[in-house]
Amino acid sequence: MHKRFAVLFLAALSLSAQPKIDWAKINQEGLRHFQAIVQIDTTDPPGNETRVVEYVKKVLEAEGIAVTVAAKDPQRANLIARIKGNGSKRPLLIMGHSDTVRVDPSKWTFPPFSAARDGGYIYGRGTLDDKPNLTAAMMTMLLIKRSGIKLDRDVIFVSEAGEEASTGPGIGYLTEERWPEIDAEVALAEGGGVKRAGGKLQYAMIQTTEKMPRAAKLVATGPAGHGSRPLRNSAVLHLSRAVEKIAMWDPPMRFNDTTRYYFEKLANLSSPEDAARFKGLFDPQKSVAIREYLAEHDPGTYSMLHTSIAPNIIQGGYQVNVIPSTAEATLDIRALPDEDIKAFYELMTKVINDPAVKVVPLDRNQRPGAAPSSITTPAFHSVEAAYKKVYGITTLPVMATGATDMAFLRAKGVQCYGIGAMRDDEDAVKGFGAHSDQERILEDALFKHFQFFWEATTGIAASGKREPT
Ligand SMILES: [Zn+2]
Repeated sequence: MHKRFAVLFLAALSLSAQPKIDWAKINQEGLRHFQAIVQIDTTDPPGNETRVVEYVKKVLEAEGIAVTVAAKDPQRANLIARIKGNGSKRPLLIMGHSDTVRVDPSKWTFPPFSAARDGGYIYGRGTLDDKPNLTAAMMTMLLIKRSGIKLDRDVIFVSEAGEEASTGPGIGYLTEERWPEIDAEVALAEGGGVKRAGGKLQYAMIQTTEKMPRAAKLVATGPAGHGSRPLRNSAVLHLSRAVEKIAMWDPPMRFNDTTRYYFEKLANLSSPEDAARFKGLFDPQKSVAIREYLAEHDPGTYSMLHTSIAPNIIQGGYQVNVIPSTAEATLDIRALPDEDIKAFYELMTKVINDPAVKVVPLDRNQRPGAAPSSITTPAFHSVEAAYKKVYGITTLPVMATGATDMAFLRAKGVQCYGIGAMRDDEDAVKGFGAHSDQERILEDALFKHFQFFWEATTGIAASGKREPT
């Protein structure tokens, strides 16, 4: 062989070091595990995630993968398994949560823990949130072990308890008391996914940051009195004016790397009308009117632009003929990751501009604040490449307006990327979304997710792969 060809041939060999996988076979095996895991009722509370741990443990141990059961509460165990790499890079953590939200069985066509298959779907609580990630991560561990693929870093798999309602036995315990066992440079967990609308793939999303849930109360005071002699300065009036002001306020807009890139890239994928809107956000001349439009028509997107305030509980008075001397509103505040919350409360006080109304910070089961994960790491690009390979689509980094357990990992310095399976936009509207009356996943979406998870994991961890840039 000509020397030059020999070199090319060797290069081709090392690039094809990826083992051949019989996906048709793996899909059926994964489907069987997925159904078994969905059939285990882990509604949280009470969770009982240990039952999933027992199942997963059996599967992994049968193939020689060592498993640690990590439980603060014996009914609510987490599982940790590790496949060693050569240690030249720090570990990758792949994680899925084993609990689900609750169900109202009367709303289900197929029983919520049946994992029934019908018309290309699998039905059951947890079929979207988050048992696809859990199963795909487990399958990826099996494939790594079976293929003997060489790794530059350890891959750590965690079946996590308590994500939906109780971080104590789950991520709280893992990060506080089991940290050395799961300490990693990079983590993949729930939070992103692939968006399809009208039967057409749109784009993939990688969650790289999220807003921080905070809470405060508005406390209004005024004179008490007899209900037959209304007062213009009653606590209830002060409160209602303040609530309206704060709820209609457009808090200062600010972008971070993720949201700036998100809107720029989304504009390229949108209709001309939407594109003009997303681009216009960066133009001070146009931005105010666009924000007003979004507040009205697209509250999810609007919330990504700033720290948001939703007045969700109002309390005041106790008897129809008594003017009460105090009234209160509880506010759900979702802060941008870099928000100086004390300064924000001072700003709110200025906006309300009423000495009879005080802003009082409240304690909330707080997830820690942390800097966004980088959108320029090789790991991010590997996940992007995996989406491209499996779905042939572009990826957008996203900031979640809600909270996930990745906040705990980010606070520990882990670069976290939220990933997920393909979902049809219309399906959530029909009532089959995560946390909906019913829940289902397309079998084909589950199968693609198995492959995506393997591609993303090996893209980040396998040896001898050129890192995509
Ligand atoms: Zn979830």
